[in-house]
Order: sequence, then structure tokens, then C-alpha cells
Amino acid sequence: MQGTRWRWMAILALALGVLVASGCGDDDESADGGTTATTQARTFDEGTTMARLQQAGEITIGVKFEVPPFGFKNVQSGDVEGFDIDVAQAIADELGVEANYIEALSDNRIPFLKDGTADLILSTMTINAERDEEIDFSDPYFIARGRILVKEDDDSINGVGDLGGKEVCTALGSTYEDTLKREAPTAKRRLVDSYSECLELIQNGAVDAVSTDDVILTGMIIQDDSLKLVGEPLTTEPYGVGIKDGDSAFQEFVSEVVQKFKDDGRWAASYQKWVGQYTEEDAEPPTMTLKEAIDLST
Ligand code: GLU
Repeated sequence: MQGTRWRWMAILALALGVLVASGCGDDDESADGGTTATTQARTFDEGTTMARLQQAGEITIGVKFEVPPFGFKNVQSGDVEGFDIDVAQAIADELGVEANYIEALSDNRIPFLKDGTADLILSTMTINAERDEEIDFSDPYFIARGRILVKEDDDSINGVGDLGGKEVCTALGSTYEDTLKREAPTAKRRLVDSYSECLELIQNGAVDAVSTDDVILTGMIIQDDSLKLVGEPLTTEPYGVGIKDGDSAFQEFVSEVVQKFKDDGRWAASYQKWVGQYTEEDAEPPTMTLKEAIDLST
């Protein structure tokens, strides 16, 4: 059963701690701003966002800073690392520019694109129809599932049906604001800015459960093996790169890079590094189209 498999990696609880503390992961190039691009830069038509970014020599990308294994700060090096950062770095490398990573919380991802604070968002962001009204997305680069996390010794919550009257933490501006309203209407929602706050709140007993994407909850279990996943997957959450609304040439370019990342083995290597080694689960790059991802939410 998936839950059991996810849980065994509690044995490896220290692993990520060691990884975060020592930066002893693979020697790849997924690092914070300052990474010098090594690939031969392509040329783009004058007036495109790609040409503008190349002229600037830099792209600003909003990512999570406290969500291992997708976007988190390596405490020793100060670099931001994770699966989202690997995809982001592939885009910067294709442009031949430096990546400047800024923190994008769930609630400020869309404003950051609208006001130009970020050129792109790779912040565990689910593609859905409501968001697609405000911004554009690349093709899906990852598929997460909605789950529930509780304390290992809590026998009172075994699935979403047990959340009535319980305090449940999730992030403000996340898809789980609505998921919890719909699936657990009598749960008391605790909406916070960052998932590290949810982790602290469940650890100190201020909330009974956390609900968000499986990979984010898995990151919490890696940090604290007294936590476990319960119940069946609640939702399917296809992650897309967030792009300012209406920039179709940039959208096409980003989707092209995502496709290349999936096809040439980088996706599988990144998945294995950040997720697979802890879960012992194999995964294939998603084949879901952008339209299918949007339709899924309607
Ligand atoms: N993928 C979900 C979302 O985009 C939850 C994770 C998050 O809040 O970043 O809302």
C-alpha cells in the first residue's frame, strides 16, 4: 500500500537533514543565483521575453524556500535546491542566463507574475482553471496528489472523513483551501503563509492534521518520523510553470524546455534524487497535456 511505502522512509529521516546540512547531494548544477550557464545560448527574435532576459543576463524565478524536496534552502551553502529548482535551472540554462531565485509563497505566486516581481514561478503550483484565468502555465512537469498528514500515534484520523471538528493546517492561497471546504466542511481550517508553519503547528500539537500535496508532506516526514500519511489521495495536482498571462511565445518556449527535460533523462534523474530515493517508487514523467490538467479542475 502506498501509505506504507511512503512511511518506510521515516527510517531515512536523517538523510535529508544530512543532505540539507552538508550539501552532500549529487554534484549537479542545481544551485542558487550565481550559477553560470554552460550551454550555448540560443538566439531569439527581438522583442520576445526570451531576448529581453538574455539581454539582462538574468531571470528571476519564484520558488519555495522551505518545502523539501521541491524547493528549500540548503542551510550550509545557502543555495536553494530541489526538484522545482532543477526544472527552473534547465530553463535558465536554455536561455544562457543566470537564475536569481526568490521566495514565492503559495499566496503571492500569482501577484508576483502579474506585477513582474518574478519572470516565472516554479513553486509546487497546481494548474487549474481558476488560476488559468489570471496567468498562463507550461505543460505539466509533475503530478502530485492531495493527502493528509497526522501524528504517527493519532488513531482518531484515518482519512478525510475523520477531519470534522479537527484543526487542519494548509497554506493560504493553496488549492487545499477549497479542497478542505469541499471534502471536510466541518473541519477548522488553519491557513498559514508557509508549510514550515504547518509542520511546526502539528509538531507542537496546535493542529491535528496538515493537508497538502503528497510530496510536500513527504518532505515533512523526512524531517520528522513521528508523522504519517493517512487516507486515500484526495486530489490530483498537476504542477505547471507559472508564466505571465498572454505571453504565448514565452509559454511555448518554457513548455519546450519542460518537454526536453522530461525526454532526455534529466526528469528521471531529478525525481530519483529528490523523491525516488526516499520512497523507492519509480515514476515516469507526466504525459498529461495542459488542457487535460485544466479540464481536471472543472
Ligand atoms: N499544489 C498546491 C497548490 O498549488 C499546493 C501546494 C502549494 O501550496 O504550493 O496550491
